[in-house]
Amino acid sequence: MKTEYKKASADDPNIDDSPPALISDNDILKFFNLERDNVQEITFTHKSDGLYVGITLNQKYCQCPVCGNMTQKIKDYKEKKITHSVLSVTNCYIIYKARRYQCLHCKKTFYENNPFTFGGKFSVVTVSNVLKDLKSPNATFTDVAKRHNISPTSAINIFDRHVHISRRPLPECVAFDEVYAFKSYDSDYVCVIVDYLDKKIIDVLPSRHKNVLINYFMLIPRVEREKVKYVSFDMWNTYRIVAKHVFPNCICIVDHFHMIQDLNKRVDKVRIRVQKKYKKIKDDLKKKIKNKTITVEEKLELEEASRHYYVLKKFNWLLFSNNNKIFDENNEKKYNRVLARYCNYSDFYTYMLEIDDELEKACGLKEDIVQFYTNCNYDNAKKALEQIITDFRSCPVEEMSPFTNTLTNWKTEIINSFIIVDDKSKRRMNTAIVENRNKTIKLIKHASNGYLNWERFRNRILFSLNDDTTYYFTCIRKDRN
Ligand SMILES: [Zn+2]
Repeated sequence: MKTEYKKASADDPNIDDSPPALISDNDILKFFNLERDNVQEITFTHKSDGLYVGITLNQKYCQCPVCGNMTQKIKDYKEKKITHSVLSVTNCYIIYKARRYQCLHCKKTFYENNPFTFGGKFSVVTVSNVLKDLKSPNATFTDVAKRHNISPTSAINIFDRHVHISRRPLPECVAFDEVYAFKSYDSDYVCVIVDYLDKKIIDVLPSRHKNVLINYFMLIPRVEREKVKYVSFDMWNTYRIVAKHVFPNCICIVDHFHMIQDLNKRVDKVRIRVQKKYKKIKDDLKKKIKNKTITVEEKLELEEASRHYYVLKKFNWLLFSNNNKIFDENNEKKYNRVLARYCNYSDFYTYMLEIDDELEKACGLKEDIVQFYTNCNYDNAKKALEQIITDFRSCPVEEMSPFTNTLTNWKTEIINSFIIVDDKSKRRMNTAIVENRNKTIKLIKHASNGYLNWERFRNRILFSLNDDTTYYFTCIRKDRN
């Protein structure tokens, strides 16, 4: 091998004559995925826009890709400029003298194999560095492109050409969820299908509509679908219909996370209604102050309404917190100027419930459900749930009583949520794991200024969220250029 460092010529302003870095030839070859015996010539030229590395490979006996005869006849050379992003201080380009051989038998001409590209204008190292960076859900194509000295379109092309992730096999425990993320022709929701036990995403679908889901699953062989034992989802009836249709052996489960979430929304509606009531009282009485028609009693009423409004608005999150520590009555109290007394969170919570009877009743029912999930097991859940349904039915709060129908409608699936699906860790099913994932999916969506291409979005989700996914070393799709 001949290593030759081109000397700068004084009249070429593009060439800077700083000496090359002091590293051995072997180290240099590693940067280019080259073996010593493979190289005929390597040259280094420093220009103002980066380091140019000229590479010519050794002549070899090659097999004709058409007829299989061996040949050593050189047809010609073609110079190719390949972006090789390995140096962080400067750009690096490979000027590769690509050799073309000709078959003596069939006359077909073909390029020699080279170890630094997949056939495109980016080196293997550039491609794998770009893909490595795109593993992170917050990495945008634009940032990654900038880091590796390529255009954003090229980063997208690299991704599209090398990343194509297939569906994972159906597991025993499937969890369905959706996330509001991708606008497709018929839905704003992405349906996420997760393996409950190993937490990996099986696949994502562009819609949660019945026909889309049924068509998707019916293409999977029946033997595979028969393996699914449990399917967990929120109270979206389509999932129940689909699950029963496509998984002949499955038990449907409504997990407690979604149940509590639905209930919390109802309690919050009560809270908002009460809060509005006090806002109106407050606003009406303030008008009276302006007109100087307010009585002493009304002044007291105004002060009280202001306090109620303040606590309901500022501390509403206490109604939905499941952090028991903050509700400890013995926690330190801090002076609150609006209430003009020392309070801790437990005091604010008690205050809020005392404001309104209906709010207190709504919270009481929610608490019953929380206790139901904490204390029951599969054997006594049915009886406890029936009592809860009776309590809901007799509840006069308009936001809460319709929940009776929901509970009745999903009774079996709610009781099923007490089944231990994971013998090892004694876990019941709970799609809260999907929720964390959904945050990341939204992050991917935000980091990409909105995806218009579903396939790319899907691949990016699976690539970034399943830590075992990898990319293809050969192009799976042809470059459009
Ligand atoms: Zn041939």
